[in-house]
Amino acid sequence: YMQEKQIFVMEYSPSIVQIADVRIRMMQQLHADIEAKRLSVVFQPKVELETRKPVGCEALARWSFEEKPVPPDSFINIAQNAGFIDQLDLCIAEQVLEKTHLLNELGHKITVSLNMSPSEVGDRKFESQFLDKVTQTNLEIDRLEVEITEEEPVRDYEYLSEFLEKLQNAGLRIALDDFGKGYSSLMHITKLTVDVIKVDREFVNDFLHNRSSAMAIELSVALAERLGLELIAEGIETEEQETKLKELGVRFGQGYFYAKPMPWDDFVNWLNTHADD
Ligand code: C2E
Ligand code: CA
Ligand code: CA
Ligand code: CA
Repeated sequence: YMQEKQIFVMEYSPSIVQIADVRIRMMQQLHADIEAKRLSVVFQPKVELETRKPVGCEALARWSFEEKPVPPDSFINIAQNAGFIDQLDLCIAEQVLEKTHLLNELGHKITVSLNMSPSEVGDRKFESQFLDKVTQTNLEIDRLEVEITEEEPVRDYEYLSEFLEKLQNAGLRIALDDFGKGYSSLMHITKLTVDVIKVDREFVNDFLHNRSSAMAIELSVALAERLGLELIAEGIETEEQETKLKELGVRFGQGYFYAKPMPWDDFVNWLNTHADD
């Protein structure tokens, strides 16, 4: 038996070691690239469904490892597990604040959203660094929005709501991302003061054929109305989805049907051809 086991280990351990090695190299490279500010950012428009005019955009992080783009879900996960998601988000925030300033100068009056996970929000250092960056950048802060992502249960609600209130007092808007997914959505909405609900794209993806997804969207719309919150649907890919979402009372949307996330220059060109005046 021992012998068999040893053979097993000898046969399989090289690939296991290789996999672990790649993860470690990715983690180290990601950390180095964050420190050197080599992460890039793309921008995806948010529109008013009725007019299809831009009302905002979401900034999304992009990173390549050994020349190949890595899906954000994987490198965000690496950064979270390795404990430097706060640095990643600060690196993105810095670039986004600069671009928000440029949008102001170009005369585009749209909101700009950043993603943040509650795990880092429990960190006082992150809090002051982020708020410092925001206040240092001379911009119209009411156009900045933070999307809180993460399905994990929040450990410290008191601290999180305190932090979000600080952001709101500084003039930022707070959006609850991936709303309706996971069990914490209702908890979040009752315990945190937010400005925007962002309906998860999984519901948008199948609500035309899935009764419970349609109901999740209907309930979110009713809840937003009741609480006086703005609501946006993400992941809109077809005109039919757009039409039905409007019928359900959704006013704002985001998705490939309007535009994919774009590098800055393409985004500005898109804005110039899609905005009024
Ligand atoms: P998210 O916040 O839910 O971002 C929306 C995701 O949906 C983006 O994926 C976007 O490219 C994708 N998307 C937009 N429209 C459509 C559509 O019509 N159909 C489909 N199928 N997908 C669409 P992406 O860029 O891969 O990002 C994945 C996730 O990674 C984000 O989900 C967010 O949770 C996280 N993330 C991205 N950038 C950052 C960041 O700077 N900081 C943090 N903490 N998380 C980030
Ligand atoms: Ca988001
Ligand atoms: Ca997410
Ligand atoms: Ca989302």
